[in-house]
Amino acid sequence: MAESLPPTRSRFPGSGLAKGLAVTLRTMTRKTVTEQYPDVQPDLPPRTRGVIGLFEENCTVCMLCARECPDWCIYIDSHKETVPAAAPGGRERSRNVLDRFAIDFSLCMYCGICIEVCPFDALFWSPEFEYAETDIRDLTHERDKLREWMWTVPAPPALDPAAEEPKEIAAARKTAEKLAAAQAEPTEPQTEPRPGQPTGPTAPEAGAS
Ligand code: SF4
Ligand code: SF4
Repeated sequence: MAESLPPTRSRFPGSGLAKGLAVTLRTMTRKTVTEQYPDVQPDLPPRTRGVIGLFEENCTVCMLCARECPDWCIYIDSHKETVPAAAPGGRERSRNVLDRFAIDFSLCMYCGICIEVCPFDALFWSPEFEYAETDIRDLTHERDKLREWMWTVPAPPALDPAAEEPKEIAAARKTAEKLAAAQAEPTEPQTEPRPGQPTGPTAPEAGAS
């Protein structure tokens, strides 16, 4: 059996006009959602994914971020440097020195994986988003530019006062307390004479001829 089509016309003349006017009135009384950007800056959450900042002092060139980036848009170059032994007889060590760190924001999809996987807290989200370019090549931000974005990264939220003390801070505090206690201890008087040290009185007794 064929389905009957819905009626295309209302039973009451002018009801369509009334409905339209009702929609207009309802919309007129609602708060506007139009953003007046760029005259008015949008009120964004502080952790907005705008651009990525690099704190290169923390970067050990472990390459984890570049390997995990799904878009392969992080470019890192480095070289090895030999560090002399810390103590005589010790071994020389080698460390990676960063030569280039760049992110191509024309490829980046703002997934945040690089920031999540960085084990040394060297990458951060900044809410800055006004870096549009007319040349796509300028969207590759080199390390200096990425370092500049760090100044726009908001401060971390305050720690929960009821939270457990982080292990690293507890360990550092204990070490500092031990050092302070060791420095505060009085040095013991010397009881045993050192080899070659005279054992008798060093000054002639009073009245001796
Ligand atoms: S946010 Fe995602 S796509 Fe962008 S650089 Fe990081 S890992 Fe790559
Ligand atoms: S994961 Fe972090 S430390 Fe490793 S290369 Fe990337 S930014 Fe540097």
